[in-house]
Amino acid sequence: MGMNKITENAWLLALGNANAILLQHGGELTLIDAGFPGKAGVVLDAIAQLGKRPTDLKHLVFTHSHPDHIGSAAAIVRATGARTYMHAVDAPLAESGGPFRPMTAARGLVQRIAFRTVWDPNEQMEPFKIDQHIADAETLPLAGGLHAIHVPGHDAGQLAFLWQGSRLLIAGDVFTNIFGLADPIGFEDEAEGRRSQRKLAALQFDRAVFGHGNAILSKASERFRRKMR
Ligand SMILES: [Zn+2]
Ligand SMILES: [Zn+2]
Repeated sequence: MGMNKITENAWLLALGNANAILLQHGGELTLIDAGFPGKAGVVLDAIAQLGKRPTDLKHLVFTHSHPDHIGSAAAIVRATGARTYMHAVDAPLAESGGPFRPMTAARGLVQRIAFRTVWDPNEQMEPFKIDQHIADAETLPLAGGLHAIHVPGHDAGQLAFLWQGSRLLIAGDVFTNIFGLADPIGFEDEAEGRRSQRKLAALQFDRAVFGHGNAILSKASERFRRKMR
């Protein structure tokens, strides 16, 4: 319940209408993103289902510092002691808990409705400390190797991640995949967002997961390339 296997040692967790990704490697767990507030219990249940203890969650890595990706972070850190990682541009937002940078709604109908109903840059999240900044093209030595790709546009400090070579792309909010591959709800800078979408579409990966919507479980990079043609 609330925990879907994506590939060997990777699970998608639904933390409200936002996904987090749990990776297992060599007895250690890594979580990417922390959902809406009040969802730490879902993460702790998932850890228990894997036969692990809360302190086995060693790393908490963020795609970006929006309320729907950091909401339960402070509670998860309290429960697990996990070390936190984020791009330097977004780290001050996590450490203040907001307000967040303004975005404008993307053009699609679903995006415009979602933007009006869920996006509030003045929302206040519980602040938490970022232990380590992540740079573009850095490979973090955790979860067997997590390669960061800076993908601004939706959010200036956003990162996508390639896990264990080409096996899995963690796309953050560069795209959503709710009713098919589509734009996020909004952009800080749309032109930059398009460049980031093309940057991801130029990579090779088998599977992809998103901050919002369904995972793509095969030939994912081909789907990205068709979308950006
Ligand atoms: Zn976002
Ligand atoms: Zn999001």
